[in-house]
Amino acid sequence: MTDHVASTVRELMPGVIANLEELIAIPSIAFPGYPAEPVHQMAARTLELIREAGIPDAHLADVPHGYPPIYGEVRGPEGSPTVVLYAHYDVQPAPESQGWTSDPWTPTRKDDGRIYGRGAADDKSGLVSLLGTLRAFEGDFPCTLRIIVEGMEETESNLEEFVEAHPELFECDLFVIADMGNLRVGEPVMTTALRGDVSCTVTVRTLDHPLHSGVYGGPAPDAMMALARLLSTLHDDAGDVAVEGVSGAPWPGSDMTEEDFRAGADLLPGVSLTGTGTIADRLWSKPSINAIGIDTTSIAESSNVILPHASAKISMRIVPGSDPEAELDALVHHLETHAPWGAQVEVQRIKAAHPFTVPTEGPGYAAARAAMEEAFGATASEAGSGGSIPLLQTLQHASPAAEFVLWGPEDVALSRIHASDESVDPEEIERMIVAQVLLLTRLAR
Ligand SMILES: [Zn+2]
Repeated sequence: MTDHVASTVRELMPGVIANLEELIAIPSIAFPGYPAEPVHQMAARTLELIREAGIPDAHLADVPHGYPPIYGEVRGPEGSPTVVLYAHYDVQPAPESQGWTSDPWTPTRKDDGRIYGRGAADDKSGLVSLLGTLRAFEGDFPCTLRIIVEGMEETESNLEEFVEAHPELFECDLFVIADMGNLRVGEPVMTTALRGDVSCTVTVRTLDHPLHSGVYGGPAPDAMMALARLLSTLHDDAGDVAVEGVSGAPWPGSDMTEEDFRAGADLLPGVSLTGTGTIADRLWSKPSINAIGIDTTSIAESSNVILPHASAKISMRIVPGSDPEAELDALVHHLETHAPWGAQVEVQRIKAAHPFTVPTEGPGYAAARAAMEEAFGATASEAGSGGSIPLLQTLQHASPAAEFVLWGPEDVALSRIHASDESVDPEEIERMIVAQVLLLTRLAR
């Protein structure tokens, strides 16, 4: 079976890559402040391609606000399983300040064989792998398929709301989320866990109003310095999270090499990694804390004045299996009790998004794993993902018994999603299409 599928998919690849290049050229940035026309153009073209690929009833879904997701369904044989296939058609912005070496909206094949451009991997590669998978069946689908391609994944998504309003559209046996990737090209990985994400803002106050730094500096505490000291208590000297009550554990699956991590992260020369344990532990099964924004007097507006207040936004990634409200409670409590000099602290809770653990006991996972190993000709390992997909929780509510497969052509080592010079390996797209075709075929047996 694999040989037949592999040759069918190989013949489809020129068309799939042509689609990818066409879609990269459409700057479908759904963020506020960017032109809407290309996003609508992208939605219309994607819809057309999905219809042509064998889902003639696909349509733009009705949503109260924002860009519409594309939804479509095609029935498989009586009694066959139902599979929801997910991808997204919007992309991150690609500002010049990121330092692209080729135009982000001109698909560019470089000497390494990869195709460069914004969205080349995230998630237009997932989208065209979905198209290739549909085409391989030539309208004769072994399962009932429900297609959902959302248009606001990278910004304030409207899809969770849509799923909550229409849970019946998402009832299924298996969700296939094609918006992930292997750690390295050609080495199959099953993603089994995602961290959650909690955040808050913390404001530190020491004075009623700004004071002259010469007249009062010394005994009068500076709010910015107090905030810096408070933030420094969130980690120990090794860089591990030091918040009491926040959980972590070793990662049981495969590891990522420091070399791959550094290549993907572009750490500056001489900068060391933070935290202890394997890279996998630190990325997938231990918490992390970052200050992601700060409000205080800017340098341009500064004068010889002691700052009376300063605020920071804190984001904490939490581990699979943990309770986001409890983890956020622990973070808030830590911030409220560790400021120096009796400074006043006020914490505002912003978000508590669940982590996600992929069930690995069911037939869907087994079929996906076998399909992946057949398509890649290698044993699959289990990896986590440091990112969070709150949508998964919502999908699980809509279809509580369903299984999940999280994969795609976005390899972690080289794809540079959300950064400059994003790229994808076309052969990885081909292998993922083969894997998806094999999965649907196996599942139907
Ligand atoms: Zn994505």
